[in-house]
Amino acid sequence: MLINTAPEPATQCPLCDQDNQCAVATGRESSNCWCMQASLDNAAKQQAANRSGPPRCICPKCGRVTT
Ligand SMILES: [Zn+2]
Repeated sequence: MLINTAPEPATQCPLCDQDNQCAVATGRESSNCWCMQASLDNAAKQQAANRSGPPRCICPKCGRVTT
């Protein structure tokens, strides 16, 4: 287990480390966030919640339910 790694920025998806496009993380209104208009994948949310460290938003690519 690695210790003392630098905390990932809140703007990065915990699943793929890409920009999660979270409005809150970039200081904008949460009502502007993509997740407010999309339905989120529960499995992805669960995976993100299981990651260590502070909770972070997942990105549209990982979180959006594709039907
Ligand atoms: Zn992602």
